[in-house]
Amino acid sequence: VADYDGTAWTNLRIVPYQPLQLSPANSALHYGQSVFEGMKAYKNTAGEVVVFRPLDNFHRLNRSAERMCMPPLPEEVFMNGLMELLKLDNQWVPDGENTALYIRPFIFATDNYIGIRASDTYTFMIFTCPVGAYYSEPVRVKIETHYSRATEGGTGAAKAAGNYAASLYPARRAQQQGYHQLVWTDSKTHQYIEESGTMNVMFVIDGKLITTPLSDTILAGITRDSVLTLAREWGYPVEERRIAVSEVIAAAKEGRLQEAFGTGTAATIAQIIQIGHEEQDYMLPPIAERKFSNRVFKALNDIKSGQAEDKWNWVYK
Ligand code: PMP
Repeated sequence: VADYDGTAWTNLRIVPYQPLQLSPANSALHYGQSVFEGMKAYKNTAGEVVVFRPLDNFHRLNRSAERMCMPPLPEEVFMNGLMELLKLDNQWVPDGENTALYIRPFIFATDNYIGIRASDTYTFMIFTCPVGAYYSEPVRVKIETHYSRATEGGTGAAKAAGNYAASLYPARRAQQQGYHQLVWTDSKTHQYIEESGTMNVMFVIDGKLITTPLSDTILAGITRDSVLTLAREWGYPVEERRIAVSEVIAAAKEGRLQEAFGTGTAATIAQIIQIGHEEQDYMLPPIAERKFSNRVFKALNDIKSGQAEDKWNWVYK
């Protein structure tokens, strides 16, 4: 835990997990001035506790904070806090395949103030909890063409609490219809793919890896960046460009949509097996046939577990 008193981050401490005491007038509760990150700690094959690209999470947290009028957090507060906590929680890092210790850093406003303005004071916290595989099964997604989670000029590129609140209602409707997740489309025309609820989305069409470019409406996923880095390293054709929903559907109908998957910390790669769009469902090729995503999933796991060279210094001990 660390507190921002209006001028500096102070009072750095580690405390037992416990309820928070908040004023009913806490402005984060009312106006959503709150940003967070999601990371995982693993055990590598040598039994060491490692974290994947934590500095990228740190930088993204500060970009989110800036968009939400919050003060930046010093790198040492984030990194020392994280490493101290992991030393203490070491025994909670599971060592089974696909299991990990989830790490949740977050910053929220602590002014008790009813007017609408940025808070002067904040609290930063990290807590952890053991998790199993997030989506071990392939997922069914629905392309959302009515609701939006983010608009141009909005907060979609920040990992801000409110983006997730905006997602809840449409996501629940999709779940009631039998889907696991939504794939959002652009808020203006609803004709272009954005990302899913907790993952960036990628397609392999005609042997090319295609994903939506970064913008102010999607989160700059760290897994997305890792997958693109590996694809480029392998000389795999990569296109970061707008993807029309009609292009994906046409490719699915014509058998040219070879792979579709989400990328994110929770699952690393979540295979998409079915896409729902305008009352129609399209079945995608079996997982075993998906050469690129199976290869990239294994490559990332091998880097994390220490079985492959960590060329880009992604693994942090
Ligand atoms: N998009 C959204 C909206 C997310 O919540 C996440 C999870 N952080 C992602 C994409 C994937 O990001 P990452 O690969 O950094 O986990």
